[in-house]
Amino acid sequence: MTQPSMISPEERTPHGPPCLADSCHRGLLEHELANEQVLCSRCVHLVNVWLHVELPLQIVVLEGSRQRETTGASSGGRTAYRTAPLPGRDDVLNLLGPAAWSDRVRDAHGQAHADQHGPVPIAGVLIPWVRLVCDERRWNPPTLTPQALAQWLGRPSLLDWASRRPWAGEMRDELDELMRTVRCVTRLRPQRRPVPQPCPRCDNLTLVETDHQLYIDCTTCESMYTRDELALAARIFAAELAAGAA
Ligand SMILES: [Zn+2]
Ligand SMILES: [Zn+2]
Repeated sequence: MTQPSMISPEERTPHGPPCLADSCHRGLLEHELANEQVLCSRCVHLVNVWLHVELPLQIVVLEGSRQRETTGASSGGRTAYRTAPLPGRDDVLNLLGPAAWSDRVRDAHGQAHADQHGPVPIAGVLIPWVRLVCDERRWNPPTLTPQALAQWLGRPSLLDWASRRPWAGEMRDELDELMRTVRCVTRLRPQRRPVPQPCPRCDNLTLVETDHQLYIDCTTCESMYTRDELALAARIFAAELAAGAA
């Protein structure tokens, strides 16, 4: 089989020091290092998608599930569900629960502490990061609802700055954990679909696209491509086949 052309291999081949997030194992690329990033651009993009697109949708689902369970509890109201809690109900309430500006403290290593059972409220995970940014930038905090916090923290301009801070990796890891917890409770996960085109770099049919995400990943060699790059690779491949046949 003809070896397909590689597209922008330098751009997409990790070779620098690793991205600071434990939940990512990419090396930083040249332009990311030049930008003084400690968190790779893919992680920055993921955090933006989580906070701006997926989390708001997940919160709508959580709110709906809370409403169903409370209004479904007849005229007995509160006592009705107290005596017969529905499965998952406590997790929903925990996740949507309020959190105060000073609920959790970070120790010297940036480790967050919470002393409660079940999942930490979404707001409780977001607030310490929002507070850290507010402290460092001397900004006023946003409203403390989960939606407002997510919108505020997920802004691309803020994340671009955050990707150069030493705590960026830990923030990404903690948000990754939060998204896993939320998806477990709502049982809603972003769908992944195979892309019927060989990976331009390793030639395997292992490209996968995921809801909301800008990049298409190769699960074999971990390269990532935009849709434009894959379209270009497909055209080059077709041209090479034609040239070979001529
Ligand atoms: Zn990364
Ligand atoms: Zn590949």
